[in-house]
Amino acid sequence: MENLKKLKRLTAFDVFFEEDGFQPLYRIPSLKVLDTKNSFTTKEFAKLALNRPDIKCAYAHPYREWEGFEYMKCKKCGNFKVEFSGVDLKRKNFCLQCDSKKCAELIERFNHLKLN
Ligand SMILES: [Zn+2]
Repeated sequence: MENLKKLKRLTAFDVFFEEDGFQPLYRIPSLKVLDTKNSFTTKEFAKLALNRPDIKCAYAHPYREWEGFEYMKCKKCGNFKVEFSGVDLKRKNFCLQCDSKKCAELIERFNHLKLN
């Protein structure tokens, strides 16, 4: 992995980095885009955001937006729900408006995992 010094974009849909999480990727300075599913823990995404804020990854944030996806529409208010990062979350999709308390908790959880 570390020999790929010029790698700019990595698609890691079905890849699992066993022990080190995303750590091997921290050492590829050229890497700017990481395409992945929500198949890593919140902590791994949070640490990626902390260590490599320059890598674009949809899940290296507390949540990602799914604007325009009908099945992500909130039945109560009609806004689109967001998907929180972390395969370890039991439930991931919440409405920022109707589930605002839970959303605030999960955002806080992400930021806590980032710094601890
Ligand atoms: Zn709603």
